[in-house]
Amino acid sequence: MTARTCAACDCELDGTAIKIKLGGNTVEVCCEACARALNEADASISTDAHVREG
Ligand SMILES: [Zn+2]
Repeated sequence: MTARTCAACDCELDGTAIKIKLGGNTVEVCCEACARALNEADASISTDAHVREG
């Protein structure tokens, strides 16, 4: 079991963590800016013909 950390900036999460869907997984981030950063990154990956898993 690991401490919950932001999926974008890797800082520790407290009760205000934001959950977002990313490539079929749910991840938690510390703030809306991090959520957007991950969503934009995922979107750019999804539009690419080269899809990776994992
Ligand atoms: Zn963050």
